[in-house]
Amino acid sequence: MVYSVQKKIYRILKSQVINIQIFVTFNYCNSFSEAGKQIFSYICGLLFKTKILMALKLGITIGDINGIGPEVIIKALANPRILKTFTPVIYGSYKVLSYHKNIVKDLNVNFHSVSNAKQALPGKINLVNCWDDNVNITLGKATSEGGKYAIISLDKALSDIGDGSIQGLVTAPINKNAMQLANFSYTGHTEYFTAKDGAVQSLMFMVSEALKVALVTNHIPVSKVASSITKDLIIEKIKILNKALIEDFGYERPVISVLGLNPHASDDSLIGDEEEKIIRPAIIEVKKQGILVNGPYAADGFFGSGLWRKADAVLAMYHDQGLIPFKALSFGTGTNVTSGLSFIRTSPDHGTAYDIAGTNMADESSMLKAMFTAVEMIHHRQEYFSSRENALVRREKQTAGLNE
Ligand SMILES: [Zn+2]
Repeated sequence: MVYSVQKKIYRILKSQVINIQIFVTFNYCNSFSEAGKQIFSYICGLLFKTKILMALKLGITIGDINGIGPEVIIKALANPRILKTFTPVIYGSYKVLSYHKNIVKDLNVNFHSVSNAKQALPGKINLVNCWDDNVNITLGKATSEGGKYAIISLDKALSDIGDGSIQGLVTAPINKNAMQLANFSYTGHTEYFTAKDGAVQSLMFMVSEALKVALVTNHIPVSKVASSITKDLIIEKIKILNKALIEDFGYERPVISVLGLNPHASDDSLIGDEEEKIIRPAIIEVKKQGILVNGPYAADGFFGSGLWRKADAVLAMYHDQGLIPFKALSFGTGTNVTSGLSFIRTSPDHGTAYDIAGTNMADESSMLKAMFTAVEMIHHRQEYFSSRENALVRREKQTAGLNE
């Protein structure tokens, strides 16, 4: 037990610069009894964990200032667990957030203004003031200003994630019409981050405790779905999904179920043939590469019979095929994750909800979930890479021993 705790502390110490004194005392003081060492290592582990958790900086983009984004950010950050878990850094404006704070009454939320994320302090709700303009807030309306400031917030957060000032990103919802009015040339956040991150391919991945669903095609017309699905695309999506489950969610050997495209997964090519021509060959190909994948399943039966419970994640062919069961089973507790990027990005599973903007009716639970999911994912990724690094060092030492 001591060894495993020690290993954990070593790993934390290696990846973070923290109290070396405690490390030395712990390892070299022989006057401790075994029981004493166990208790001491446990306390050290807790202290280190809290310290490291708080040191983790999570960026939060403000989204559309005319929607419910700022409201759910403020309400979520009022949760007492937040400041014990990570250091929030909002990308927005003091004036805009103060406006929304007046709508969300009785919440003791104070913003700590910083000029950049490097200055952000643990224990504070940090706010990077991305603009000083007096902005017209038109609640519940798609305006070019709403789009413009959402873009400024996104660009600033992206540059900070690029230089390591923040370790992950949670995005509040944007409105597609407002973004277009501001000449945003991407369909949504996912496409924006994929292009800016230089990723060849990314994956829209909806995550909740009950169910994890990823999509082969995202926001395209249904009339274009069948022609967009190729064997190579499915293979790539399965690989990104498998990698994300291992690196970001802590699975050792995840099981992925793939849905068909046609009703009854085409009934042996009686209703379409994409299953036999495209989906099944893709599944066979990734199986050969050692990924645990099964399907293609008829989507209705797969969810109706409860088969989805046996999969660690499900790959759906198009938006509604995956998101209808996901939202029916997880609404309000789901998180939207973009996998395949060089950084962790999550967002709540709702939009700008213009109809209730400014009414103080918005529910922050999905925003909270998005924040905690991002933190968990960052830790899983750090754990994954530090354990691989340790294994590499051990192997190198063994090889060196053999050569002697
Ligand atoms: Zn959508």
